[in-house]
Amino acid sequence: MKIAIIGAGFSGCNLYNNLKEKYQDITIFEKSRGVGGRISTKYIEDKFIDYGTSSIIPITDDLKFFCLDLAKNGVVKSKYDEFIPKNGINNICKFLIDEKSLVTNTRIEKIIKKNEKWFLEDTNHKIFGDFDLLFLTIPAPQILQMDIELPDNFKNKLLDIKYDSTFSLILYSDENIKLDENKIYENKNVKDIINNSKKYAYKDFSSYVIHSTKEFANNLNELTKEEIHQIFLKTFENETSKELENFKQIPHLWKYAFAKNSLDMPYFFDKELKLGICGDYFSHNNLEASLLSSEFLGNLNL
Ligand SMILES: Cc1cc2nc3c(=O)[nH]c(=O)nc-3n(C[C@H](O)[C@H](O)[C@H](O)COP(=O)(O)OP(=O)(O)OC[C@H]3O[C@@H](n4cnc5c(N)ncnc54)[C@H](O)[C@@H]3O)c2cc1C
Repeated sequence: MKIAIIGAGFSGCNLYNNLKEKYQDITIFEKSRGVGGRISTKYIEDKFIDYGTSSIIPITDDLKFFCLDLAKNGVVKSKYDEFIPKNGINNICKFLIDEKSLVTNTRIEKIIKKNEKWFLEDTNHKIFGDFDLLFLTIPAPQILQMDIELPDNFKNKLLDIKYDSTFSLILYSDENIKLDENKIYENKNVKDIINNSKKYAYKDFSSYVIHSTKEFANNLNELTKEEIHQIFLKTFENETSKELENFKQIPHLWKYAFAKNSLDMPYFFDKELKLGICGDYFSHNNLEASLLSSEFLGNLNL
């Protein structure tokens, strides 16, 4: 059985992890340079900056047990009710898959079924095939952007799923400098500040990630991240802007950051079509949903 998974975020990697015992021929296609999706890490030489999900605070026992297993394997460490990555949060995804199965820098834009097999086409018109089973683990709007024929009843469900956006400003410096976080929080467009260097306790390196509110990012999410960056900087008072200039800055737009709603089903699977879909918009709308949705789908009798 030849299997294709689209998306190497937490859902895609955990799906792989659940399928790998039974199936040997699995390929994961990822549009970015590496794994992680929204649990992602930027590498500045040997330093890590987590700029999506920053740590995990499980709500359910399922995610807690999953994190305890990660802790046992040295991927995260536990501190009270929180699980903190040891060497970059995207290592959670690396831990779940065999990197030999991963094809990066490959955005799939067209999917067709021919003679009972799935064929994928990327943006460079390169064709990948012939797969017996196809799994989509990307946010609902990104599935709808692909050229793929889906059953009408399910396509209509996907159309209902909406996401909030977040603009994230990554700040870093080779010097040990501190941000006045209280001042940053005075900006009503700021939702959260993560002191990333504290998490990893670097000596001569500081890094922070400032996450915007959804209201700020939802209004601007059709602009480029560079354009949003300039608008974001202008919303700070002069003195604070100057302080931000002490850091090197990398802007990032999460167009599909948080699912606003979810489907009342744990996953989608069509046995005849040989198509499965899972993600953070099944049953709940968070990391817990990604975990359970990919786990249930990966343990089906395919
Ligand atoms: C800033 C931020 C903070 C967050 N904090 C929390 C938190 O504290 N707790 C919580 O529960 N959740 C949090 N979340 C949400 C959580 O990160 C997501 O629910 C979860 O990571 C979703 O994983 P996923 O694999 O379903 O989707 P994604 O992570 O989006 O993975 C999808 C992958 O598919 C790839 N892809 C997309 N389209 C294509 C294509 N056409 N071809 C190939 N590859 C493609 C993408 O590049 C991506 O790697 C946060 C999200 C953000 C942005």
